[in-house]
Amino acid sequence: MRLLVVEDERKEVLPMRTLMHISTVGKGLLAVAWFCLIAGVPAICAEKTGATLAIIPKPAKMEVHRGVYVVGLGTKVYLGVEDSGVRRVGEYLSTLLSSSMGRTVPVPVAGGTGRHRNSIHLSLKAPGMLGPEGYEMSVSPDAIRISATTVAGLFYGVQTLRQMLPPEIQSHAPAKKRMEVPCVHIQDSPRFSWRGLMLDCSRTFLTMDYLKRSIDRMVLYKLNILHLHLTDDEGWRLEIKKYPQLTTVGARFADRFGGGGGFYTQQEMRDLIAYARERNITIVPEIEMPGHSREVLATFPELACLLPERQTLDVCPFWEGPARLGHTQPLCVGNDKVFEMLRDVLSEVIDLFPSEFIHVGGDEVPKEAWKKCPRCQARIKAEGLKDEEEFQSYFMQRVEKMISAKGRRMIGWDEILEGGLAPDATVMSWRGTKGGVAAAQMGHDVVMTPNPYCYFDYTYHKTPSEKVYSYDPVAKDLTGSMAEHILGVQASMWTHIAVTEKAIDYQMYPRLLALAEVAWTPQPSREWSDFDARLARQLRRFQLLDIKYFDPAAVGKKIGAWQASDLARGAPRVFEWDVTRLFTSVSEVEVQVRRDDGQMPVYVRSVILLDDGKEISREVFPGTLSQHNDVVIGWLALGTRKADARYTVRATLQCMNEGCLTGSVWIMQPPATESTARR
Ligand SMILES: [Zn+2]
Repeated sequence: MRLLVVEDERKEVLPMRTLMHISTVGKGLLAVAWFCLIAGVPAICAEKTGATLAIIPKPAKMEVHRGVYVVGLGTKVYLGVEDSGVRRVGEYLSTLLSSSMGRTVPVPVAGGTGRHRNSIHLSLKAPGMLGPEGYEMSVSPDAIRISATTVAGLFYGVQTLRQMLPPEIQSHAPAKKRMEVPCVHIQDSPRFSWRGLMLDCSRTFLTMDYLKRSIDRMVLYKLNILHLHLTDDEGWRLEIKKYPQLTTVGARFADRFGGGGGFYTQQEMRDLIAYARERNITIVPEIEMPGHSREVLATFPELACLLPERQTLDVCPFWEGPARLGHTQPLCVGNDKVFEMLRDVLSEVIDLFPSEFIHVGGDEVPKEAWKKCPRCQARIKAEGLKDEEEFQSYFMQRVEKMISAKGRRMIGWDEILEGGLAPDATVMSWRGTKGGVAAAQMGHDVVMTPNPYCYFDYTYHKTPSEKVYSYDPVAKDLTGSMAEHILGVQASMWTHIAVTEKAIDYQMYPRLLALAEVAWTPQPSREWSDFDARLARQLRRFQLLDIKYFDPAAVGKKIGAWQASDLARGAPRVFEWDVTRLFTSVSEVEVQVRRDDGQMPVYVRSVILLDDGKEISREVFPGTLSQHNDVVIGWLALGTRKADARYTVRATLQCMNEGCLTGSVWIMQPPATESTARR
């Protein structure tokens, strides 16, 4: 057995395939590479090519050399030291390689000189210039060496390696392609420590499977913060042991159209936190207050303001669409019971999430109720506050004390600046960049997620990838120490418009990659056309990872339309169109229901594909068309196309008002070739 292994290794070490490859490049080079090997010098000494690799985000420093390392039968992943963190990264890499190679790649600790050939080496080194998430990588024809000062850095080196391997590395079936890695020297570390994605799990309850998948995709592009928007008017999504009603009542949609509810148990969340942590991702929880709390008030009406008119509150009936999406009342800040509940809730949240930052929302607080409520007015008077803006500031300062007493830091949306910022608050700037700039100038830490660049619920028409890419989180007015208050940048994915997991993916990809490069790569190294060329080479990876993505080169064919008069108020209306001639060899089609004119919302309740009248695939509740949303997207699986079958698409639309918007239904077809795709 041992002999076999040695034989195997020897074959791989003799660089026959490598030499053959090099010989195609040129005899002179062959001589250089041969000299390097004979002399025992790593063949990295071979000539630089000046080429760039399609790595996103682009590494800070990268030199590509001629030649390749071939991951082959004898390849092992050697650990420089037996350490649980390093081993975890090694096993992660081994799993990745093993599934595409159809055999287990061993992960031994390097012995002797540690210079094993035909291997991938992972090692830790003393702190230096690389920083806590940086890494260094050298690829020569006989070895790949990744070193870093931390396990996180090693992990990012492995992510870079993952992108240097063929996209087929993503498939769980053995890859047919030769697993070549170009010879390269990389020194890399991130520009920002906060490289975030916010997922709104309140408007659309996202499954644990989806959250784990999202984490796996984030790490490929070196994002490290997953901000979960856990509570909002549409539903409370986290189990709180002391207040089970928050989820038994507050996690339920008002079930008008059959929308689902749901919440995460603390145990499920603990598992997710551990899963994320192993991948260098911190989950930052957001418990929204004192606005966007309709679901809390539906659960505990006694926490609302005392108003002369009697109000009944229900968890926001989301499916009534944006026209009636409202958050009319905040928590009653004049009521001490509100602070008692928040203290209990935050205490459980802090026990659960190890994150340094706890997000408390604070945005879009409607203040009319506070003006009319005798309890709130009495407190404003007693505290000597000028107005309701200062009253919100008073509330935020009390909440900040609860959080800082537990050794954590409070972060909130930029409205927390109004009426005076709590002393140690960190600001998440969403209404453009002004709030973030102002907070940094006041000496507060800031995370930038300005809506014109970073809100991925916006259409691609409004916020194309190029616009996301053009954003520099450090505004020109911020210099010196003020600039250091910009912790980083984040994409915010609100889910009131894209309501299926596929549609949410579509909103994020490929824009999220542009954001990832904004967050990681030094500003002077960034250039759109260079990024765009690298992005085109990520599409195959998206396909293998089963990520739905926006392709601006896709061509649409209109299959039908409706007029306002076609939709009677209230009753669902079914439309059906023949699409037989539009379905060719594809196994799945993207269907778009588009708004053409008007504003009154239309609910796209379902889109169904039929084969001779028999249903073969459906998308239930793909979403709502409104003045805020021009398109609702679904995907229908065709399976094997039958030559003589008649295919139809059936859409069920509903309007709750008079004079609904008009629109049309389209089938999208992929562009002729991937290389023509431009985004
Ligand atoms: Zn009140």
